[in-house]
Amino acid sequence: MKVSAEQVRSSPGRRLRLQLDEPVPSGAEDLPFVASVRGEVELRAVAGRLRLSGRFYTEAELVCGRCLRSFRTELSALVEEWYDPDLGPTEEVPVEDGVLVMPLADPEVDVTEVARQHLLLAAPLVPLCRPDCLGLCPVCGADRNANPCGCTPRQTDPRWQVLQNTLGGLL
Ligand SMILES: [Zn+2]
Ligand SMILES: [Zn+2]
Repeated sequence: MKVSAEQVRSSPGRRLRLQLDEPVPSGAEDLPFVASVRGEVELRAVAGRLRLSGRFYTEAELVCGRCLRSFRTELSALVEEWYDPDLGPTEEVPVEDGVLVMPLADPEVDVTEVARQHLLLAAPLVPLCRPDCLGLCPVCGADRNANPCGCTPRQTDPRWQVLQNTLGGLL
């Protein structure tokens, strides 16, 4: 969904409210969106600039960082972006109240692209299928959520540990 910047700027003070609901490829192989991207967006012209604010949602398929199983989770992003169509692409980007004011290269604001980028950023760095996922057993590789295997984690003799550390320092 693209919105003409001029259309927004030509009616200062007016709020343009839009609903987004479309299938969007995430563009990230390990993080596919498995539901359409939905959200409410508001565009407004303020002193010649454009303010985009909104909230976006989708569902993504992630791989658990502990047990390596795929699972689905909801992603949501609260977005506020400012654009200054008069700002050249090479000019320094001003920061006001902690928000970047970006140049607008196109005559249109690509709301779908803004949503896509922010939803990708909303994904956890280390996804967990559930907060208390037990993960895989380091000894036998079993999924400890499904079948507790009863292995005891290997204990290293503290004297060997000292030797290993010394050798590790030499290698
Ligand atoms: Zn897991
Ligand atoms: Zn085991």
